[in-house]
Amino acid sequence: MNTEEFKKQAHEFVDWMAEYFESVEKFPVKAKVNPGEILEKLPLNPPAEAESMDEIFRDFRQIILPGMTHWQSPNFFAYFPANSSYPSVLAEMLTATLGAQCMIWETSPAAAELEERVMNWLIQMMGLPQQFEGVIQDTASTATLTAFLTAREKASQFQINETGFEGNEKFRIYCSTETHSSIEKAVKIAGFGKSSLVKIGVDEEFKMIPGLLKEAIISDLKQGFRPLCIVATIGTTSTTAIDPLEEIAQISSEYKIWLHVDAALAGSALILPEFRWMINGIEKVDSFVFNPHKWLFTNFDCSAYFVRDAELLIKTLEILPEYLKTNSRGQVNDYRDWGIPLGRRFRALKLWFVIRNFGQNGLQEKLRYHLQLSQQLKETINESDDFEIMAPVPLNTICFRYNPSGINDAAQLDKMNETLMHKLNDSGKVYFTHTRLNGNYAIRFVIGQTNVTEKHINNAWDLIQEFSQGI
Ligand SMILES: *Cc1c(COP(=O)(O)O)cnc(C)c1O
Repeated sequence: MNTEEFKKQAHEFVDWMAEYFESVEKFPVKAKVNPGEILEKLPLNPPAEAESMDEIFRDFRQIILPGMTHWQSPNFFAYFPANSSYPSVLAEMLTATLGAQCMIWETSPAAAELEERVMNWLIQMMGLPQQFEGVIQDTASTATLTAFLTAREKASQFQINETGFEGNEKFRIYCSTETHSSIEKAVKIAGFGKSSLVKIGVDEEFKMIPGLLKEAIISDLKQGFRPLCIVATIGTTSTTAIDPLEEIAQISSEYKIWLHVDAALAGSALILPEFRWMINGIEKVDSFVFNPHKWLFTNFDCSAYFVRDAELLIKTLEILPEYLKTNSRGQVNDYRDWGIPLGRRFRALKLWFVIRNFGQNGLQEKLRYHLQLSQQLKETINESDDFEIMAPVPLNTICFRYNPSGINDAAQLDKMNETLMHKLNDSGKVYFTHTRLNGNYAIRFVIGQTNVTEKHINNAWDLIQEFSQGI
């Protein structure tokens, strides 16, 4: 391909992209394909000769697109929002064009310094402590793993990095029973072993019970374990429950335990001053992660990780082979020492574009709208005869189920709701996922897609009512 062909093709793609965003509602939200169906359409062997972009793009539209689930559809209410936006996509085009590896300051000074500035913007926007420093990671899973590794090294005076676990086998990590699976995964990868993870019970609102946390710590200390880290979740995956951070922080500071906050989804809401109560106690927190790639209009991947003491993080992860030694070391941030991979994408650019193009007010307006729609829907469901709300709705996720009068069998209700959800998803008009709350099947209705409006919520609610008839 030469420059002229690239230009022509790129313009065509931009037209396609704009049209896609305009017409995304026309596609079935959830891909309607069977396992192996796409694979079968792909040649077994790679092409020996060059193929034209026309052919490749045709296959993209005919083979790939039908196998995609449309996360940017405003009728996508499943899992969590992985929302995107125009400024974010435009920045990604530039990032791909520059194709820079932003592992150290020298390999792209602007990328390092923009990342530093944008992370500081987030600290201001979200009311995080001024002494926090931030770095962009790929995912919350990686950030949490990084937190565990740092806590581990701090507790062992950096000995585990040197000689392995010997003599340091008795660490304990605490989280609630509602915590995301990435916590358990990070516990395994960090070498603690799954049996070191202590899951603390939750109250009727699915929030960690601090009293039980304290009991578990006291009991572990008696048995000779070393309480290492507590994970508090701000916005659990099932219901967006908000663990009581202030009380948990009291306990972590009393027992000198690392406190990590997983706010992957809900952290975005901190740009709204009226939600800052969620992080009362934040001054005692050691590390904090949230994903702009979920609910802040910045396309995947972009996870913001903040730490109180960046020195500990760097000391845990730094490497300095001869070929990476530079004169600027010590004066600037070499972010390869702030995370696990060496190579790093220029992710700060899209976040910078998003924050500037929406403005703080624009971002706040969007989130407030989503939160208002969530409360409206909760009211609507509460007022309906045949449906019920299954969990509190502090943020943008509504857990509900169909529960018509006269059915008292729990298994039958589960089955009906499962059938209802699959019927809805198979229609291609909406997409929901489910969870279990106190053992009961609940459908999750998550409101956070960039362009979702009241109309989409109303349509989905009409559809839910219509499809519930006769199941
Ligand atoms: C989505 C989510 C995660 C995982 O995020 P990744 O960035 O995909 O690793 C972890 N914790 C919570 C609470 C989440 O909502």
